[in-house]
Amino acid sequence: MSDSVKYLLEENKAPKFWYNINADLPSPPPPPLHPGTKQPAGPDDFAPLFPMSLIMQEVSTEREIEIPEPVREIYKQWRPSPLYRARRLEKYLDTPAKIYYKYEGVSPTGSHKPNTAVPQAFFNKEEGVKKIYTETGAGQWGSSLAFAGQMFGIDIEVFMVKVSFDQKPYRKFMMQSFGAKCNPSPSEITDFGKKLINEDSNNPGSLGIAISEAIEATVKSGGVAKYSLGSVLGHVLMHQTINGNEAILQMEQTGDYPDIIVGCTGGGSNLSGLMFPFLGQQLRGGKKIDIIGCEPLSCPSFTKGKYAYDHGDMAMMTPLIKMHTLGSAFLPPANHSGGLRYHGMSYHLSHLYNLGLMRAKAYGQKECFEAGVTFSKQEGIIPAPEANHAVKGAIDAALECKSKGESKTILFNLCGHGHFDMQAYADYFDNKLSEDVYNESEVNKALESLPKVA
Ligand SMILES: *Cc1c(COP(=O)(O)O)cnc(C)c1O
Repeated sequence: MSDSVKYLLEENKAPKFWYNINADLPSPPPPPLHPGTKQPAGPDDFAPLFPMSLIMQEVSTEREIEIPEPVREIYKQWRPSPLYRARRLEKYLDTPAKIYYKYEGVSPTGSHKPNTAVPQAFFNKEEGVKKIYTETGAGQWGSSLAFAGQMFGIDIEVFMVKVSFDQKPYRKFMMQSFGAKCNPSPSEITDFGKKLINEDSNNPGSLGIAISEAIEATVKSGGVAKYSLGSVLGHVLMHQTINGNEAILQMEQTGDYPDIIVGCTGGGSNLSGLMFPFLGQQLRGGKKIDIIGCEPLSCPSFTKGKYAYDHGDMAMMTPLIKMHTLGSAFLPPANHSGGLRYHGMSYHLSHLYNLGLMRAKAYGQKECFEAGVTFSKQEGIIPAPEANHAVKGAIDAALECKSKGESKTILFNLCGHGHFDMQAYADYFDNKLSEDVYNESEVNKALESLPKVA
């Protein structure tokens, strides 16, 4: 029996394909609808926003999609990422469970986001795109796309949620370091931003608002620029499966196979990237896995949201997507997990949740930081506030194993480090963190304005 702590894959063993869950789903997810006609949206409806190669990936049902060589070359900078066995944490919890985690904090920007930023920049470059607009919450996505744009010589302009732009300046400087432009959102650059600032000059912004601004800027560029999204869409989730494809090979080294897979869920991409390849094995007749998405109590799309067609943005410009949503008009309260403050959810994960192929848990931010600090003390890695939700979910699962005397294998995604988020830890240590609250009346109000779909 091995007593290894770290399971590495050699560069020359790195997977050369992404895994496409569309090939193995028991039924396809409901199609996106055109926001005007409410008829299924076709590839042409998305052409003003995305390069055709990414649109075709969105609808492809091929099981494996080859990772282009230039993308693999850049992945090599940090991939394959390590798989760890949390031996000290297991001992500390005194659990018979085995806890493994895949660590995505080794990427250039410290999270899983470059896994999709790099191929998105590549496929845009292939189609001659010169500039990409995008949005970012706390800055993880903006800095990752800035890095990727720099790799392929594409201009990147980012709309960053204003409260983060003001309170978390370091990721903005990181975007600048990679040559990108970063604006606070709402901004004076777009009509939608101007309208919101006129109504309330202190509007703190939200992901839904920033998405609207980035789309408006893209549409007004007259075809010069495209738009890019860092989560939620199928091609984004698929790019993230490089992580799960690696994890399958690394778990083979351990001699164990996951009974439980845990990840935090904002738009769903990091959990999907780790678990889709394993779920694919299950759907093709393999072992059943308990898949758990962990979300914030204050923005609980799975556990409190409605499974309905909704817009992805606040200005209601995006196609309608059937997803677990709190309503595109819902403004999630400020908390320290900026990456999890989104009203909607991936349509793939929403579909899987609806089919009973995964479940979800909502946690408050204090208990998540408590779990994150416990983890840091045992494992020496400080998780991003978002990732603390996954740490909490994994510790909960391990303690449940302890109370039942079960020796299950738990695998979770440690999707990023918290080195840019130490102010959040400072607030936790100073007891200044407010407890997350779920604002039911605000959600109900937002759900009233869901688009009407026959
Ligand atoms: C963006 C982000 C998330 C949330 O996005 P998903 O698409 O759900 O993965 C979670 N953790 C970190 C560190 C992030 O940067």
